[in-house]
Amino acid sequence: MKIMKFGGTSVGKPQRMQEVARLITKDAEPKIVVLSAVSGTTNALVEIGDLISKGKREEAKQKIDTLEAQYKQFVPELVQKPDALEKANNILKEHFEFLNIILRISFSEALSKDILAQGELISTKLFSVYLTEQGIDHELLPALEFMSIDANDDPHVEVISEKLTKILQQHPAKKLFITQGYICRNARGEVDNLKRGGSDYTASLIAAAIKASVCEIWTDISGMHNNDPRIVNKTVPIERLSFDEAAELAYFGAKILHPASIWPAQHYNVPVKLLNTMEPDAKGTTIEEKPSSVGAKAVAAKDGIIAINIKSSRMLLAYGFLRKVFEVFEKYRTPIDMITTSEVAVSVTIDNASALNNIVRELETFSNVTVDKDQTIISIVGNEIGAQPGTLKKVFDSVSNINVRMVSFGGSIHNISMLVDSVNKTQVLQQLNSGVFGLS
Ligand code: ADP
Ligand code: ASP
Ligand code: MG
Repeated sequence: MKIMKFGGTSVGKPQRMQEVARLITKDAEPKIVVLSAVSGTTNALVEIGDLISKGKREEAKQKIDTLEAQYKQFVPELVQKPDALEKANNILKEHFEFLNIILRISFSEALSKDILAQGELISTKLFSVYLTEQGIDHELLPALEFMSIDANDDPHVEVISEKLTKILQQHPAKKLFITQGYICRNARGEVDNLKRGGSDYTASLIAAAIKASVCEIWTDISGMHNNDPRIVNKTVPIERLSFDEAAELAYFGAKILHPASIWPAQHYNVPVKLLNTMEPDAKGTTIEEKPSSVGAKAVAAKDGIIAINIKSSRMLLAYGFLRKVFEVFEKYRTPIDMITTSEVAVSVTIDNASALNNIVRELETFSNVTVDKDQTIISIVGNEIGAQPGTLKKVFDSVSNINVRMVSFGGSIHNISMLVDSVNKTQVLQQLNSGVFGLS
């Protein structure tokens, strides 16, 4: 069985959805198809939730109506037969009535997750109506019945596997299943999600849960590129990556993959392919256990980073100092991305500012603390990157004119990370593209 995940742009127009139907019926292998919301929908739902939370119900109502009008145009281009049209319009009615009801009740965090879930629920249901109209046998699997996270917001493959296997066993003759990406239930049984871009994570978790033959991530670009194509002009696709390389690129900001989406596939050794819905025959990127060639493969950037410099109040780092520092971050459940140490100070970066004030307050009880916001981590990733002669020199030569705040190398043998002011990001990515990859 294989997993095929289609992102927002891949289902973003009726014609694109119809193309997805062609792609999933090309071969006879049984499959679970994971769909994102139609592009733009989750952003709109985020805005609607924000407006409601601020009590701006009129504005929220306008946004809901605009979104509904878009779907009302979408439906008659997707399906034509009267019964399909009726079913599709009823789906819209159900979900937009739900949003309008939410407008009238008091807002809560749990309700905002319910709002966010509407995108994937609508896209999969409309797609199912189209498949039925086309006579394509399939089963719609409600992700909320098997995709779950624990009290720490972590999914567990074994738990998902147990639930999903039972559901699949109820449909022994089916070869095609459709389900929602992104959405799940939390430990309280409420509707929740796997964070923005989470449909990739869903696909990888399902692939691990059923030990799929492959996890295909279909998107709008032909695989992982060596640099961010939204920022840098000349970028090239990478044919092969190891799980370690792909995991680091995803974690350090390559938007094509959700940050956590590699570990389930890696842990259960399911190859991942990144493929392009607009160019289905392009090679894309294959990600598997096998190490790829040695050397730099790609650069990624992660914005919104906060650097915290913690200077020991005593002149030298006594032992126990680092433990005390880490305990503070652990207490506030804030992961550290980068860390550098010197004899008297340690610098760390975090991307979650929610507990920043408390963290700083506690650190200040035993150290001097400074905080720099609006930082970006630039990571140059590649199998045993430091082992390739000259790579480190090329990296540092490329950024010789830039004020680099931190450098980290050696923790992972596949990664060199630098911290720079976010205003310098574009320049750094461009300079690395020519200096390290010879592309300009
Ligand atoms: P989907 O909606 O299919 O999940 P995303 O927008 O989440 O698609 O991810 C695909 C986008 O990721 C591409 O269109 C591209 O602009 C962006 N991207 C950023 N970095 C990279 C990279 N290194 N390689 C390929 N795409 C990247
Ligand atoms: N629809 C969700 C988002 O836009 C999940 C996804 O597309 O992967 O973040
Ligand atoms: Mg995505």
